[in-house]
Amino acid sequence: MTLLSRDYIIKEVSVPKVDPSKCVGCLLCVKACPYGAIRGEPRKPVTIDPAACQGCGACVGECPYGALDMDILSDDAIMAQVEAALAEEPEKKVIMFTCAYCSYYAADNTGILKLQYPPHVRIIRLQCSSRLNWKHVKRAFELGAAGVFVTGCSLVTATT
Ligand code: SF4
Ligand code: SF4
Repeated sequence: MTLLSRDYIIKEVSVPKVDPSKCVGCLLCVKACPYGAIRGEPRKPVTIDPAACQGCGACVGECPYGALDMDILSDDAIMAQVEAALAEEPEKKVIMFTCAYCSYYAADNTGILKLQYPPHVRIIRLQCSSRLNWKHVKRAFELGAAGVFVTGCSLVTATT
């Protein structure tokens, strides 16, 4: 009722930006978006409805042409976190990508419950695990990571 009684609602989400010079209109992102926020026609640049977008980043992770990116958690920002986590003794490190919801809170609760997970795990929190792009996983292995662990819910596997 609090939400519905307002004249307007301010959403704090990071809506991806489309680079029309790179978008080939393959429409993979349209299929990947769980919220129906992307409109497009074959072989034409897509557009994103900011009101419908929830900022999950699934479309960015899906685009094979690098035509999408986000201000928050851009491809470069994720890459920088991977490289920083593996700067020392990468062969002992496991990179764990989590979503901001279920899997990050599971890791957080581990601490609250005074349980332990192996100290060589380095967590990188994404908004949704579907935001992850293959190039981040590839870079982790190039730098010598012992492993990469991607966590998420069934919605991720259904949409990617
Ligand atoms: S996946 Fe990338 S290239 Fe394909 S339509 Fe979407 S933004 Fe364009
Ligand atoms: S960020 Fe998520 S909700 Fe927004 S357009 Fe991309 S896939 Fe759809």
